[in-house]
Amino acid sequence: MSAPVVLVLNAGSSSVKFAAYEAGGGDLGPARWRGQVEGIPDDPTLTLSEGDRRVVDGEKLNSAGVSDHAGALRVSLERLFGLFGRDPLLAAGHRVVHGGAEFGAPALVDDATFARLEALIPLAPLHQPHNLAGMRAVAEVAPGLPQVASFDTSFHRTIPAVAHTIALPRELREKGLRRYGFHGISYSFIASQLPKRLPEAERGRVVVAHLGNGASLCAMRDGRSVETTMSFSALDGLLMGTRCGALDPGVLLYLMRERGDGVESLEDLLYRRCGLLGLSGVSADMRKVLASEEPDARLAAEQFVYRIVREVGALASVLGGLDALVFTAGIGERSAEIRERVCEGLAWLGVSLDREANARSDERISAAGGRVAAFVIPTDEEGVIARDAATLVAQRLEPAA
Ligand code: ADP
Repeated sequence: MSAPVVLVLNAGSSSVKFAAYEAGGGDLGPARWRGQVEGIPDDPTLTLSEGDRRVVDGEKLNSAGVSDHAGALRVSLERLFGLFGRDPLLAAGHRVVHGGAEFGAPALVDDATFARLEALIPLAPLHQPHNLAGMRAVAEVAPGLPQVASFDTSFHRTIPAVAHTIALPRELREKGLRRYGFHGISYSFIASQLPKRLPEAERGRVVVAHLGNGASLCAMRDGRSVETTMSFSALDGLLMGTRCGALDPGVLLYLMRERGDGVESLEDLLYRRCGLLGLSGVSADMRKVLASEEPDARLAAEQFVYRIVREVGALASVLGGLDALVFTAGIGERSAEIRERVCEGLAWLGVSLDREANARSDERISAAGGRVAAFVIPTDEEGVIARDAATLVAQRLEPAA
């Protein structure tokens, strides 16, 4: 095989996802290899596919001595390189959760950039270190390979000051305390699809609902972010798998004062024990929540939908109306039931669902004649990262005249 390969790493708090694309001239096309290690650190488990074929299926990595992200990354890269050899690598692209106020576009990672990304760790302490560990792991196994960072925050750089400023005293705002927004890699993919998939009249004022384990909404005007529900951190906004979304800070003050909770226990509570999991007492997985008859599970699903409906209303008023609603990510792409319940709650706004199209997860799921069009568009975060990396490396090789 001779086509150079672009590697993509997406290191999350308990998982590492990776993909590899062949860059044989022109567009990259779909990923040729995909895989992930889940369950880090307790039970790291590797799966790896080549096209549609499973090459590694649920291999337990404890026996290979893996107990952290660095180990999971090392084994993943070894297995992946075993499939395509080391020589033809063109670049590695990384999902980096935080680009701060500084990085508004993907960046080639040299020592200086790496140091600037390290300085942003306090803004995303649970995610940024893993993203950077991915860069270190690649540098170890493929020294000298160009590495590119794509940021979850960059797409939201167009949000105006009135929306991104937090009403804190200046000295705190100057420390970087502002609303950043996340899921930007996914939103930039969806924005790139709007001109291809939506008629012009339907893509001016759009709300995109990225509903996965993490969930947020983005209001786009002409394909640019003007508002989003996540904020300074990925805790704000909607109800999520294990995060409760927007929360009165008074709750935290109460827990600190009355129970003596410290940073670590609050962090664990807010990131891992709330949301669908905490409320339902059943699972963080929407499929299990929807299948459960437990009253708390019903309430969890109901509140998941309620919060989306409430926030879409707010974003529609920011946009001065709504032309289209787009669903994406795990729940948005696969749960016809959640889409139906959200659209029912937004009937007042002019969303009218075509139930059969929704049940089939067609691209267009709204009934003809409704004021607001509704779509399902599968997101492709790894594809965006791979293209960012290939583009930046090509620019480096052929600097503009
Ligand atoms: P991540 O945010 O980790 O990238 P995904 O976007 O893959 O996650 O979304 C994962 C979530 O999607 C799962 O936790 C599960 O709740 C949900 N999900 C996947 N398939 C379905 C389905 N058919 N119905 C409802 N929820 C689903």
